[in-house]
Amino acid sequence: MDMQILSTANALADCCRSWHREGKTIALVPTMGYYHEGHMALMDKARTLADRVVVSLFVNPTQFGPNEDYQSYPRDMERDTAIARKHGADALFAPTPSELYAPDAGTWVEVPEMGQLLCGVSRPIHFRGVCTVCSKLFMLSQADYALFGNKDWQQQAIIRRMVRDLFIPVTIVGVPIVRAEDGLALSSRNVYLTEEERAQAPEIYKGLVYAKTMVEHGETRASVLREAVLRRWSSTLPLGRLDYLQVIDSASLEQIEDVCGPATMACAIRMGKARLIDNIQLR
Ligand code: AMP
Repeated sequence: MDMQILSTANALADCCRSWHREGKTIALVPTMGYYHEGHMALMDKARTLADRVVVSLFVNPTQFGPNEDYQSYPRDMERDTAIARKHGADALFAPTPSELYAPDAGTWVEVPEMGQLLCGVSRPIHFRGVCTVCSKLFMLSQADYALFGNKDWQQQAIIRRMVRDLFIPVTIVGVPIVRAEDGLALSSRNVYLTEEERAQAPEIYKGLVYAKTMVEHGETRASVLREAVLRRWSSTLPLGRLDYLQVIDSASLEQIEDVCGPATMACAIRMGKARLIDNIQLR
């Protein structure tokens, strides 16, 4: 069966309804396209979980701020279609913005506290856009599983909270971060990096690994870990401008002072035109 390409909300709903009537389970992979191996890992994992895989490809305008890169976000529908097909998608859902947002759409889904932390400080409407579009995708597909990369840790934690709070009948599955050989987390936005910036960018992850090593050697004070990484970056990452570096509770995203339970170190760094995020599980 060749992959179906669906462009309307109704077509997605009809397609998934008929699969469910046949007793098939459905896994959904929400993406903004311009695929790299991180997206492919999500598709491959989805293939192992469910009978049918739906990949959505939608650069969601409501999650971009007024001065962000919505217009210039990289797009390559033809290549993405080929990759989704090769990685076992049964349907590719690629709607236009007006298909998902009526001209007078006025309903938002928001997890306000978690959405204002970390990336939410510099991107105050971002997670409201993400939650709203994911709600629409969950409603239309009625997917049994939805896959999210661990690279966007805050996004995944917020989606888990939204799904729990609203009793949305979908199981959220996290997928490990796929990295380039030198450690840089793959991202569609890495194309914004100049050669010089790209050469330095792996230091972001090296800094996080340095903190994890300190934890393995017994350090638990978040402030000490943070200072050590910042000191390291001040020499290894001169082209980077810090947005944030925080040690947080992995589920609630609240800042913690002592690493005792599940803790994550998360950061966002601006380099030239790019804003790169990364994170590591400290415990
Ligand atoms: P995006 O198209 O960038 O919105 O990402 C779509 C999905 O792919 C999200 O769930 C991301 O977390 C995930 N993703 C993006 N980059 C990576 C990566 N390097 N490793 C694993 N998952 C990723």
